[in-house]
Amino acid sequence: MSQDAARIVIFDTTLRDGEQAPGFTMDVPAKVTMARALDLLGADIIEAGFPVASPADAEAVSQVAREVRRPVIAALARCRAQDIEEAAKALAPAARKRIHTFIATSDLHLSRKLRITRDACLDAAVSAVRLARQHTDDVEFSAEDATRSDRDFLCRVIEAVVREGCTTVNLPDTVGYGTPDETRSFFEDIRARVPNADRIIFSAHCHDDLGLAVANSLAAIQGGVRQVECTINGIGERAGNASVEEIVMALRVRSDLLPYTTAIDTTGLYNASQLLTQLTNEPVQANKAIVGRNAFAHEAGIHQDGVLKDPSTYEIMRPQDVGQPTARLVLGRHSGRHAVLQRCEALGLGVTADEIDRVYHAVISLGEHRRAIGDGDLRRIVEKMRHPEAVGNLQ
Ligand code: MN
Repeated sequence: MSQDAARIVIFDTTLRDGEQAPGFTMDVPAKVTMARALDLLGADIIEAGFPVASPADAEAVSQVAREVRRPVIAALARCRAQDIEEAAKALAPAARKRIHTFIATSDLHLSRKLRITRDACLDAAVSAVRLARQHTDDVEFSAEDATRSDRDFLCRVIEAVVREGCTTVNLPDTVGYGTPDETRSFFEDIRARVPNADRIIFSAHCHDDLGLAVANSLAAIQGGVRQVECTINGIGERAGNASVEEIVMALRVRSDLLPYTTAIDTTGLYNASQLLTQLTNEPVQANKAIVGRNAFAHEAGIHQDGVLKDPSTYEIMRPQDVGQPTARLVLGRHSGRHAVLQRCEALGLGVTADEIDRVYHAVISLGEHRRAIGDGDLRRIVEKMRHPEAVGNLQ
């Protein structure tokens, strides 16, 4: 990676957009626990909640602001005076604070949802940023549904809020509609058209409705974005947000194509993911990239043989790079002799060359009925082979 690789700011919204998703509600202590983990992980900014939404949200923002001192703590506010005052109040204890104010800019949202004109939208955005700036120098503005907004109007809004002192402009793909090529050219175009674009940070906030949130976030970075909004395990509204772990590891593994760095300590990714599943009682899918149970597991015999000889044959990163305990060779009906023998040796079972065939066939046949063969199963197989009279039913 080149020395001057651009630094990408990680804006973590696990506690706001993530927590907003059905089934992912966290109480105040849980949010503080998660915020501490995000601090350890190296997140630059933690969005802790939407204070005007509920007293619990406001309390969570305050508690996080009080107890987590290194990262910038952000609070969300609509472009309304009361929202901004509530956000400022909740953020009062913060060592470093950001007010994040948003309003929809697409005609669809303006006419159908907010029922206001473009001019009223522009006025609200300008007033909100002006008011937020009275509370902090660090103000982020988001144009909700930016990717479906009229481009000229969107540029007018951005220009106006930047003039008011907004320092980060976030252009969300609120409904997860964009594609990577489109996202990249969207940001390139906006940056070319807005005066003083190089003085502010552009940010992407991608949703995963089409499974493109991470791809779009990476494309946005290539289009000049220097902040990405993301969540642990990709939790968030509907299909979720872009996942922190996938963005960070994509930048790291493909630094040849994507010369950008983050401050994330990747070895903490697995623990942060596990902590979130415990706090929300929502497991991660087994095949989830980076943090899923199977992300570094190999069952097929050819793969197991390759990994045992040289992990780089089937692993583009090491499990320890993301804090996963170890690469796991899962024994099952697709396994090969080499992996079975290796596991027997690891367990100290002293299986001889004469015995390995029988053990291997027993593993394959048990694998017809089981999803995976554990160490206990393997011990029983070897035991039964040696002492068929002593061990009863293997099922
Ligand atoms: Mn969102």
